[in-house]
Amino acid sequence: MKKVLVLEDEANIRSFIVINLSRAGYEVVEAATGEEALEKLQQHRDVRVALLDIMLPGIDGFEVCRRIRAGNTHIGIIMLTARSQEMDKVTGLMTGADDYVTKPFSPAELTARVDALMRRSGAAEIPDGEIRQPPFLLNTRNRTLEKNGQRIKLTQVEYAIIKMFMESSGRALSREEILDTVWGKDYFGELKIVDVNIRRLRLKIEDNPTNPSYITTVWGYGYKWGF
Ligand code: CA
Repeated sequence: MKKVLVLEDEANIRSFIVINLSRAGYEVVEAATGEEALEKLQQHRDVRVALLDIMLPGIDGFEVCRRIRAGNTHIGIIMLTARSQEMDKVTGLMTGADDYVTKPFSPAELTARVDALMRRSGAAEIPDGEIRQPPFLLNTRNRTLEKNGQRIKLTQVEYAIIKMFMESSGRALSREEILDTVWGKDYFGELKIVDVNIRRLRLKIEDNPTNPSYITTVWGYGYKWGF
């Protein structure tokens, strides 16, 4: 699962962020101080994006950003800035942040920023080449899928769909979005091709394909991976 670190000393704001990112399918690591954030990043080396508040009791968010960047260039960093502190944005970007969000922000805005950064940094790819979502294990290096340790034979298209699902766990994906990602934007086929492939995929991976629990239908929209 895609992991995000949230550094925020105010408990109510922190839990607001955590709840919304979890809902969007992210695994969230929390920290209330800069020191704690740096420690947690040592423990969770697969964190792909960090959200850093600036005003904190110990070292501030800029210093945390600087220290992260000293040893890690690939993690995405978003600063949480206050509306009254215009200069924060510039300073944040100078210290190595990739983006900033101004408080107060909506859940949709926050999620969109994190999603964008995940994509931009190519972060969806887990470094060791595996995405583990029991009972499934996707190996992105040799493009294989296992369920409960048993290899499931997939076509390249089915593999691409599963990978997209596992990288967007818990988020509803529109059929158009799936078509664009898997078949490419210049594909001139019909949306129906998505449904046909999903149907076949369900036969391969679901415990009960007529009552699917892994790939669920979002009526009038598309599909969702999540359980
Ligand atoms: Ca604060």
